[in-house]
Amino acid sequence: MFKRPWVFIRGVPSMNFLPPEGPPEVAFAGRSNVGKSSLINALLGQKGLARTSNTPGRTQELNYFVPDGYSGAEGELPPIALVDMPGYGYAKAPKENVDAWTKLVFDYLRGRATLKRVFVLIDSRHGIKKNDAEVLTLLDKAAVSYQIVLTKADKISALAMPKLIESTKEAIRKRPAAYPEILATSSEKSAGLGEVQATIASFVS
Ligand code: GDP
Repeated sequence: MFKRPWVFIRGVPSMNFLPPEGPPEVAFAGRSNVGKSSLINALLGQKGLARTSNTPGRTQELNYFVPDGYSGAEGELPPIALVDMPGYGYAKAPKENVDAWTKLVFDYLRGRATLKRVFVLIDSRHGIKKNDAEVLTLLDKAAVSYQIVLTKADKISALAMPKLIESTKEAIRKRPAAYPEILATSSEKSAGLGEVQATIASFVS
């Protein structure tokens, strides 16, 4: 699955544009600049596949990626789909954009039976910020299983990482939909990618 090329199949600006439910889905969420596109590209081994969310005013869409060769023709469905959710947390985002983001994301989270897990990316240097916590609350309300993935692990010391993992575990302990295991990654150093890939692969039916 991670050996073949992946392709972008669709950008979804609202629920009407979602592909028909079929393969299990795993989604990626995170603040703008958390390293989400870098992580998706590193996991799939393809630079430039997911594009950075670091462009103010960029359309807010759920971007669907699937392994290539599953066209949907003749009923051939991909074994899994990855969904890149629009980044959140622009300091300068107008309120209507934040509202549109929340609506799209919450509609998707609540309405998508095939959504198996959301990876919520957290920058190792910053930890869980207020707007991350708001997104975790949204996920708890939608009762969608989510898991914290720390990004840019290369930016903090090897000694600081176990502490960060412990404090992050503690921060999510009472959250009903949180998966307890915290994953740490660095796209830059290709670290921790195997565990994220294995988690994704575990959802392939
Ligand atoms: P996105 O906005 O969440 O999609 O973030 P990007 O993937 O575009 O990354 C934002 C910035 O962080 C870019 O300058 C990346 O080069 C940098 N970055 C992403 N991942 C890593 C990482 O693992 N380590 C380091 N040191 N920098 C990273």
